[in-house]
Amino acid sequence: MSSIAFRSVCKRYGDVDAVKHLDLSCESGEMLALLGPSGCGKSTTLKMAAGIEDVTAGEIFFGERPVTNLRPGERNIAMVFEDYALYPQMTVWENVAFPLKVRGLYGQPAAQRIGEVLQLLGLRQLADRDVKGLSGGAQQRVAIGRALVRDPEVILFDEPLSHLDADQKVQLRAEIKRLQKIRQVTSILVTHDQTEAIAMADRVAVMNHGVLQQVGAPQDLYRHPANLFVANFIGEPPMNLLEAEIGEGGRLQGDNWSVVLDDRRSGMLAGCRGETVVVGIRPEHIAILPPEQSGDARGAVAYREPRGDADVITVSVSDGTKLIAEIPGPSRWRAGDMAVLQFSADRLHIFDPENGRNLEVAP
Ligand code: ADP
Repeated sequence: MSSIAFRSVCKRYGDVDAVKHLDLSCESGEMLALLGPSGCGKSTTLKMAAGIEDVTAGEIFFGERPVTNLRPGERNIAMVFEDYALYPQMTVWENVAFPLKVRGLYGQPAAQRIGEVLQLLGLRQLADRDVKGLSGGAQQRVAIGRALVRDPEVILFDEPLSHLDADQKVQLRAEIKRLQKIRQVTSILVTHDQTEAIAMADRVAVMNHGVLQQVGAPQDLYRHPANLFVANFIGEPPMNLLEAEIGEGGRLQGDNWSVVLDDRRSGMLAGCRGETVVVGIRPEHIAILPPEQSGDARGAVAYREPRGDADVITVSVSDGTKLIAEIPGPSRWRAGDMAVLQFSADRLHIFDPENGRNLEVAP
């Protein structure tokens, strides 16, 4: 299987820079997710890899092979779309057989491949059914079978789960990951859903306004977000982001809260006294204690959102500052209760308020 590399790829539609100077690669056999809000350039990137859209500048390689000027049919790719794009009047078998048929592959070798793929996807029993009567999840499995059947170099998934209900989503995302690993097909997955990206992809590329923000394994993005955008986008509930002033002895002073940094962070900010930074604290790194205890902030519980084995608690620490904490649940906290918050000082993130960069992550 080949790798995919975008080298300084740009795409412009009239006045809109949909993708700006993209340098990104997807390694052979890897599943790479393109993640970001609507309009950030994910689909355009995928379409350029597919050859459905031309690049305005830059180059795309599959392995050593430049594909920038090749038509889709010359690239040996398969695509899986959000709306399945099946032939409704055909059976499951006929849909999966279709890509082989158009390449003139019939008879026993073709039948054997189709049979294998149907088996792999648990679709053998449905082979003779018309696809239009199947559930969304089964239809998408047929579409994946159709993509796999001719052993493409690359599979491009465009929001493949967005039309499915929650159960089917969870099932199919595990299924796609399993198949992708068995077949070791180099794959790009476009999604706006961080849960999906994190669950399925080996690495995640986060985009915003056509610009790649960061690429890394899901854990890297969670632990070391390169900037405020990634910090805010990865993690649910999102990271608390608060302005603070750097004080003496590694103390950060915010609006009615303050925290003493660990040695590493305090060393990093030595010499910056009086400057302002943005501090990021994930909800899961805030503990809530009874009001008589000491901590880093104090306030009243505004609301509690029960999530089964966790509670998401919003605490007002000043008129303008609300902090969100995620603690084991169900807890006894109620709106109006006074509480003390304690931050895990070794899990804080510190960002430059001007350019949003994480001061600990090399640009
Ligand atoms: P995403 O997939 O992340 O939602 P897209 O790649 O579809 O984003 O779009 C990126 C930007 O390019 C958006 O501003 C969108 O409006 C614009 N765009 C996408 N396709 C076209 C097109 N065919 N013509 C003009 N503008 C487009």
